[in-house]
Amino acid sequence: MSRAASGQRPAAAAVDIGGTKISAAVVSEDGTLFGFVTRPSRGVAPDRALELLVEDLGNATREAASAGLTITTLGIGATGRHDRHAGTLGAIDAVLPSWGGSDLPRTLASKLSLPLGALVNDADAAAAAEGRAGAGRAADPAVVVTLGTGIGVAVLRGGQLVSGADGAHGEFGHITIALDGPLCMCGAHGCWETLAGGGAIERAWMSSEREGGASNTTQHSAAEIFDLADAGNRAAQTIVDRAVRATALGVANIAVALAPEVIVIGGGLSARWSRYEPHVSAEIRRRAPIMSVTPRVVLATFGPNAVLAGAGMLALDSRAVDTVVAK
Ligand SMILES: [Zn+2]
Repeated sequence: MSRAASGQRPAAAAVDIGGTKISAAVVSEDGTLFGFVTRPSRGVAPDRALELLVEDLGNATREAASAGLTITTLGIGATGRHDRHAGTLGAIDAVLPSWGGSDLPRTLASKLSLPLGALVNDADAAAAAEGRAGAGRAADPAVVVTLGTGIGVAVLRGGQLVSGADGAHGEFGHITIALDGPLCMCGAHGCWETLAGGGAIERAWMSSEREGGASNTTQHSAAEIFDLADAGNRAAQTIVDRAVRATALGVANIAVALAPEVIVIGGGLSARWSRYEPHVSAEIRRRAPIMSVTPRVVLATFGPNAVLAGAGMLALDSRAVDTVVAK
C-alpha cells in the first residue's frame, strides 16, 4: 500500500470529466490544487484522454512533490452516474458520445499505480468541496447547485453527501419546471436541465431563428449566447431569459422543499450570476408565506475547480477508511 512517508502530506490525483472539458490536478487535503491542466473533452476518445491524463497527472505529481505532497489515491468526478466498484463510467453517451461504460477510471488508476478512491457524480464532487471547505462550510443542511452543461444538485448534512437508496444519486436537475416544455433525454418534458443547462441553451440557439426567418447556423457556447443576449441579440435574449427563469424556479423549489440553510451556486454558468440573482431572489420571496427558513443563496468559492477539489477530498477520505480497515 502506498502511504505518505513521514513528513509528507497525503494528496490525491484528481480528474474532472465534464461535457466540454476534462481537467486534472493534484489535490491536497484542504482542497488546494497543484499542476492544474484543462483540455476540451468533445470529440476526444477515452483512449486518447487516458494518454493525456497520465501525462498531465505525471507533471502535476512532480509539482506537488516539490511542495511536500505524496500522492496516495485517485479521485474522479464525472458527469452522470458511475460504478466505483467496477471502475467504469455510467451511460453518459448523451453528453460524451463513445464514453458510456468506459473503463478509463480503472485503467487510469492502474497506470498511475493508485487505488481508485472515489468515482463520483460531478455535482456530488463539487458539493463535497463547497460543503467542506467552500461556501457551504458550517451550513447545515447545505445544497449545492451546479449550473454547467447539465444541472446537478447535491445535498449535504453535517458535511456528508445525502444519497438515495443504495447510494443512488438523486437527479434534481430533472424536476419538471414546464408542463409542456421540450423533451429531455431522460424521457420527460420540461425538465429544469432541458430548459436551463448549458447544453440546452446551445441547442435552443441552433434551432432559433435569425431576424428574417432563417435558422442560426453558427454554433455558440452557452457563455457566448449570454454575451449575444447582453449585446442585444433578440433570439439569444429569449433563450437566456427562459434559462434564467427556469433556474429561478428550480432554486426556489429547492428552498421550499428542503429548507436548507444555504444554497451554493457553482458551475460555469454561475459566472453569469448577476443575470440570475434578481429572478432567484424574487421567486424565493414569492414563497415566503410557506417558508419557515429563508436560505442564503451564495456563489461557490471553488469556482470551476470545485469538482476536482471535491473528487480529490472524497478520494482522500476513502483512503483514510481503507487505512483503518487495513490495520
Ligand atoms: Zn430530464
